[in-house]
Amino acid sequence: MTRHTDAPRIVILGAGPTGLGAAYHLYSLGYTNWSIYEQESYVGGLSASFCDSEGFIWDQGGHVTFSHYKFFDELLDFSCKDNLLSHTRNASAYMCNRFVPYPVQNNIRYLPEQKILSCVNGLLDRDNSKEPHHFADWIQSVFGSGLADLFMTPYNEKVWSCPLDKMGFNWISERVSVIDIKKVLETIILRSDDTGWGPNNTFVYPLKGGIQAIYLPVQKCIGGHLLLNKKTVKIDLKKKTVFFSDGSSDAYEYLISTMPLDVLIATMIDLPEYPIIKQKAESLVYNTVMITGLGIARKNDVKRCWIYFPEKEFPWYRVTYFSNYSPHNVPGENYFSLMGEISYPSGACPDRNSVIESSINAYIRCGILRPEDRGWIVSEYTRLIPRAYPVPSLERDSILSVIQPFLMDNDIFSRGRFGGWKYEVANMDHSVMQGKEAVDAILFNKTETVYDMKE
Ligand SMILES: Cc1cc2nc3c(=O)[nH]c(=O)nc-3n(C[C@H](O)[C@H](O)[C@H](O)COP(=O)(O)OP(=O)(O)OC[C@H]3O[C@@H](n4cnc5c(N)ncnc54)[C@H](O)[C@@H]3O)c2cc1C
Repeated sequence: MTRHTDAPRIVILGAGPTGLGAAYHLYSLGYTNWSIYEQESYVGGLSASFCDSEGFIWDQGGHVTFSHYKFFDELLDFSCKDNLLSHTRNASAYMCNRFVPYPVQNNIRYLPEQKILSCVNGLLDRDNSKEPHHFADWIQSVFGSGLADLFMTPYNEKVWSCPLDKMGFNWISERVSVIDIKKVLETIILRSDDTGWGPNNTFVYPLKGGIQAIYLPVQKCIGGHLLLNKKTVKIDLKKKTVFFSDGSSDAYEYLISTMPLDVLIATMIDLPEYPIIKQKAESLVYNTVMITGLGIARKNDVKRCWIYFPEKEFPWYRVTYFSNYSPHNVPGENYFSLMGEISYPSGACPDRNSVIESSINAYIRCGILRPEDRGWIVSEYTRLIPRAYPVPSLERDSILSVIQPFLMDNDIFSRGRFGGWKYEVANMDHSVMQGKEAVDAILFNKTETVYDMKE
């Protein structure tokens, strides 16, 4: 990578958390030679929020905020100092006609006795002698056949919409609660709960404006550096120039791209020289998610945050009591809202009306809604997220190991949820940090720790 010492021109593509993390850092440093381009008319990317015509706020999936980093904490403080609510996670899984506290593997005592027995037998019979080849193997070897068949396998098949034997498992670390057999037996025999696991056992959420409220103050402070409605359509690697859909262009010395990696590569006009890069980028795997929201005109006294649904007869993999995140997510105190996330293989285009109808029926089947609630539904919201989860496929790391060095050689940092394509560092705090660290790498030659996972 060429290094410039005299205020190199930095261009950022995409004003989601990664792009805005970079932008906020540049602004804080007092740097001036930069611009950020966003294809939409709003900032926030997958962390944007939308208000429907009935006054219900919807995020694009249940976004909870927890931080691993000082810089992200400072950004939260800057954006939302007096606008944050703190929550303790109250999550469960709905299975075998009942709610089991999350994580399921630590609370199997809630299951029917035969299921408890098969989970315990599965744990005792685990065969750890063989190295797992893929995520499906890993689940069996860590959780045993009982828990695997009951929860881990069907739930993960639902979230990812990808065969688990086509996925790797080196992304897992803090994303999945692994198992301590002594603890499992203790919770069964002493009838105790163990619900504290994980980085998101407490989280914060903006009082007003949905999750996007974290990012709007950043938009304000970066002012004219941000250009909205500017879709990147072409990148000339030799001339180091980005072209936009309105015919304008901008030359860069360093590019921080947060566009999906495969789309970024597809916009590059010099690529015929590098067919392997193009071919690799096309092999990256992702899923599509439909957000389904119901706004209901009655009071809700259920205190849950979210519920996992591993069973096929329920359409969603997760449902969030979204009004419990903030009273301002609904139009008034006599309302509540439910947000379901349904996953599909990439490119799916599900029918909105049938998704809503099957959701209402499923809510009634599991008792979240009563049949008479049909008459109280005042908002039916859907939003399709064409790219929702970057799938850690078996080939992902070898693909990234070819594409990323090529981009770095061309002074391009492709970072963030789909820019970096590493699910294990694809939450908001990771994304904001990747933007910040890309700037530090460009200006101060610092090593990136979050994307390169060098913490
Ligand atoms: C269902 C779901 C649930 C989630 N839950 C959580 C959670 O609980 N907690 C958490 O921390 N995170 C959560 N996330 C992740 C969070 O949304 C991401 O970490 C974050 O939005 C990633 O930021 P980003 O900037 O990398 O990408 P994005 O948010 O995707 O932003 C990229 C930006 O680039 C723009 N762009 C793309 N192509 C172009 C182009 N050609 N030209 C110009 N602009 C372009 C896009 O419009 C977008 O604004 C969740 C995500 C999903 C999908």
